[in-house]
Amino acid sequence: MRRTRNAKIVATLGPASASHDTIEALFNAGADVFRLNFSHGTHDDHQRRLEVIRSIEKSVGRPIGVLLDLQGPKLRIGTFAHGPIFLEKGAAFRLDLDAQTPGDATRVCLPHPEIFAALQIRTNLLLDDGRVQLRVERCGSDFAETTVIVGGPLSERKGVNVPDVVLPLSAMTQKDRRDLEFGLTLGIDWLALSFVQRAEDIREVRKIVGDRVGIVAKLEKPAAIGSLDAIVDEADAVMVARGDLGVEMPAEQVPAIQKRIVRACRKAGKPVIVATQMLESMVSAPVPTRAEASDVATAIYDGADAVMLSAESASGKYPVEAVRMMDLIISQTERDPYYREVIAASHAAPRATTSDAIGYAMRHVTGLLNAVATVAYTSSGYSALRMARERPGAPIVGMTPQSGTARRLALVWGVHPVVCKELVDALEVSELACDTVRDEGFGASGQTVVISAGMPFGTPGTTNLLRIAQIP
Ligand code: PGA
Ligand code: MN
Repeated sequence: MRRTRNAKIVATLGPASASHDTIEALFNAGADVFRLNFSHGTHDDHQRRLEVIRSIEKSVGRPIGVLLDLQGPKLRIGTFAHGPIFLEKGAAFRLDLDAQTPGDATRVCLPHPEIFAALQIRTNLLLDDGRVQLRVERCGSDFAETTVIVGGPLSERKGVNVPDVVLPLSAMTQKDRRDLEFGLTLGIDWLALSFVQRAEDIREVRKIVGDRVGIVAKLEKPAAIGSLDAIVDEADAVMVARGDLGVEMPAEQVPAIQKRIVRACRKAGKPVIVATQMLESMVSAPVPTRAEASDVATAIYDGADAVMLSAESASGKYPVEAVRMMDLIISQTERDPYYREVIAASHAAPRATTSDAIGYAMRHVTGLLNAVATVAYTSSGYSALRMARERPGAPIVGMTPQSGTARRLALVWGVHPVVCKELVDALEVSELACDTVRDEGFGASGQTVVISAGMPFGTPGTTNLLRIAQIP
């Protein structure tokens, strides 16, 4: 089974997509990577879903990527004594560390000493996804007196965003550490870190996971945008997490930031996912709005590697329809002749390295000879990434003996991952490449295939061979 599009679909699993049949239907409709969102659900829920994914993977014979998304340092207020309160504009409201006393219309607990340590006079606090806004008037190590700038109802445990300051928080909480440990025993492929603030956050997690999983940095804080290049450099992939980003920054700034992030990732050759509210109205309706269809298409024209569904596939009424709709929009957009033009025009120059030279040559040879497929024989996946960075005109078959690599490549633009046996010489690679291209439905006898590999085999980062072959 092969997809006939380049950009990939990440579908979040949840109560609406927990059964074997639904997850299989999501895969058949076009989901390439499944996201297990650890902000919700129990370890048991996630384990069951992962087992279903692996059994589908086995029955369809295709590598499927699994992305574990950690909740991260999501900040929340405490509880209220008598249900939701209403905050009037201009009123005074106090936040403190007193978790024993339930809140009322004048105060509530904010059980995060780190926030109080970082607050300053005039810092803005956003509550409940920005619906309520407070401004700090006075503060100390265990309290803040604020004025309500934007009022409204507020119920307990609502989220708190502090966009103006870099919080002295690690990107992982105790819960995240437990979730990560659990995920590693399950065998996940990608790990998404929420509320990344600096490149150091990624290095810290890298010490724990090593090369067992790829790390996705979720960009949802202004501070992260400030160190965009350093974070892109350190991460294995990036998510434009527009949900929280749109709370912490004015909504009108998000489109330009999305384009900036996608461009930075394409330049670096790191996969980039555009996420949140892409087909939001499909949570409750069987068709998207025109604006949503256009939003998905825009991400594709920008050259994103993947687009993501959240509530649409996790808790909506039409999870399978949402994936199918995304698949249709991507396919249609990629068929637009203008799409190839913008992708080519927004292309960053290759670096002066052997693997980039191979990737660059591969793209030109593919066009010149009208090759039906390119093949990257890769152990770490690196050379397939460098080829994807070139955005060639033919599909990239990522042939690898590592099943983890194959699953990670499921996220990458244009890459059709295939697990193969360990190979020993170049002749064997080109024979197997031709067979694979034919068997996977990309080409027939007599057609041209462009193959890259690295000698010596099995040593990452040694891509140095470009071979042109005809399918026998
Ligand atoms: P979330 O991340 O769904 O885990 O919050 C995505 C986003 O904020 O856009
Ligand atoms: Mn988020």
